[in-house]
Amino acid sequence: MLTIVTEPRLTGDRKVSPLIGKKGKGENEGTVRVKNSFGLPAIKSCYGSTDWCEEVCYALALQKAWKTVDNFLAGNWQAVEPHLTDADALTSLLTPLVEEVIAQYVKREIPPEEWVFRWFWNGDLPTEQFATAIRRIAVRYPEVQFWMYTRSFSFVHRLKGPDNLAVYLSIDPDNVKAAVKTERKHPWVHLAFCADTWEDTEELAAEFPHRRKGPKCPELTGKVPLVVWGEDRLGRGACVECGMCIKGTNNVRFASKGHK
Ligand code: SF4
Repeated sequence: MLTIVTEPRLTGDRKVSPLIGKKGKGENEGTVRVKNSFGLPAIKSCYGSTDWCEEVCYALALQKAWKTVDNFLAGNWQAVEPHLTDADALTSLLTPLVEEVIAQYVKREIPPEEWVFRWFWNGDLPTEQFATAIRRIAVRYPEVQFWMYTRSFSFVHRLKGPDNLAVYLSIDPDNVKAAVKTERKHPWVHLAFCADTWEDTEELAAEFPHRRKGPKCPELTGKVPLVVWGEDRLGRGACVECGMCIKGTNNVRFASKGHK
């Protein structure tokens, strides 16, 4: 049954959280202690989805496998949908999420360099007004480093500006031509090359000869585990450990098959 909510809610994603408590025997098993990501339903919120990404979508697979995930994301959609073209309303609606994360960071004594927030662990930017709200929130909270990947290329101009907001174009074989045009207009964006194999990601990167192709995501290759555990049974997510996309240090590559 769909949970009726009026406010959007945060998600705890092990890959991006700076604080995870060990639970169970599995290598990556743990409970996220600081929830620091926001998601919307896949496809429904994905203004720029492509045939390729819909085919391999890990988020959609999760929604199909777990009714609770599906319902949770539907609740977030229900909260934002009436306001999708109202940047002021979206800013008011989404700001408390960041306040909540900051309160958790303070309470858990997370060092300031790990105050990070991921937009769209699931789903994507649905409207340009949503992009405006995200930019405004980044300006309002310079102490937090935000990052996101998007196929909603038509809206990225609204995200330009804040140093603490790293924006990646998610580029795949179906939208690479549109990505070339977008990058030409907005050279400040970072590039995430997504394809079936690592070789294919290099082919995509070759369409941008003036840009670095970026390394393979080390979590996908197994260089960095999903959760990096300390001695105290506390861990932090691979992205916090790696930090590359969070700060927009480099472009990046993701392969959907044969990761290691
Ligand atoms: S490259 Fe690093 S920051 Fe980017 S997704 Fe992979 S682990 Fe996360």
